[in-house]
Amino acid sequence: MSGLAIQNLNKAYGPVHALSDISLKVDNGQFVCLLGPSGCGKSTLLRIIAGLEDVTAGHVILDDRNITEVPAHLRDFGMVFQSLALFPHLTVGENIAYPLRIRGVSKEVQKAEVERLLKLVHLPGVADRAITQLSGGQRQRIAIARALALKPKLFLLDEPMSALDAKLREAMQVELKRLQQELGITTFLVTHDQKEAMTTADVVVVMSGGVIQQVAPPLEIYRNPANAFVADFIGVANLIEGRVATPGRVSVPGGVVAMPQAPASGKITFSVRPEDLELREVPCDSSVVGRIAFTRHLGSSIEVSVAVDGLAKDLIVSLPSRQDARLSLGQEVHVHVPSSACVVLGGA
Ligand code: ADP
Repeated sequence: MSGLAIQNLNKAYGPVHALSDISLKVDNGQFVCLLGPSGCGKSTLLRIIAGLEDVTAGHVILDDRNITEVPAHLRDFGMVFQSLALFPHLTVGENIAYPLRIRGVSKEVQKAEVERLLKLVHLPGVADRAITQLSGGQRQRIAIARALALKPKLFLLDEPMSALDAKLREAMQVELKRLQQELGITTFLVTHDQKEAMTTADVVVVMSGGVIQQVAPPLEIYRNPANAFVADFIGVANLIEGRVATPGRVSVPGGVVAMPQAPASGKITFSVRPEDLELREVPCDSSVVGRIAFTRHLGSSIEVSVAVDGLAKDLIVSLPSRQDARLSLGQEVHVHVPSSACVVLGGA
């Protein structure tokens, strides 16, 4: 198989199981985001792919070759860390050329490569500047350029954008995605920011507690979360527990929801996104009764919290902002829950 395969990977630091039985296959040219809360094992997995960390058990296979024991400097992968790790005493050009210089590439080729890479990251003509003269976003691009100098097979990024302010971070995400598409380079980005993962990735690997929870394209993760952890971690989700009353009908606090996809009997948990819920004045075939507890304007939409007797958390309903005219606190509302929007969840 061409691409990267991780097979039954385990990593323990003494008693801490940082990674438990991780298996993953990634085709060449894909943009993969390793996403999860702090401490879930994302960086450990990236560092093992890079060869910076040894494994307790398992294999890393690149294009059918077992590279598990190959040291980092012989893998020639490009890496960018949060700290960027640029050399402050070298110029921009010297920083970018560094990996070429230590491999004995001629001065002429180094110079041409520096110019090519600076153009690639949209910063032509700054080779002679000091690193200290550049802004945070510009330094970021220089670190990316340096990581790409060796035309690496894999491009590995560990939260490189987390130190940037929100606007610049968004711009860099777009830039990174564009660059990755242009070069067609297999890329792994570690992030705890679900928006960053949604906007950049072809494939999102959601992790928690050293275990992979789901591997899928961003929209699939959002629309069809595999379990309650994924549903809750990605965007806003209403997680509701209920009991199948009769086939296709689920009793929940405040009402009954039509759900042909539910199992024939028993207790279930399902997830439904705020934008799929609707507010009505009268009950319908699939609705829950509650009272408006809180409203919040978010620009293009309005978020309505509906308190339902028996539900620990308010239901969150997202409406287009022009629909808020008749909403008042304490008002009784019927939340229509469309069956097609309900995702029955497996155990997390
Ligand atoms: P993430 O990148 O998702 O924040 P990490 O991969 O850094 O998570 O860490 C996963 C787990 O492994 C955490 O419990 C962390 O404390 C532990 N860990 C990471 N590196 C080391 C280390 N060098 N020594 C001991 N424990 C470590």
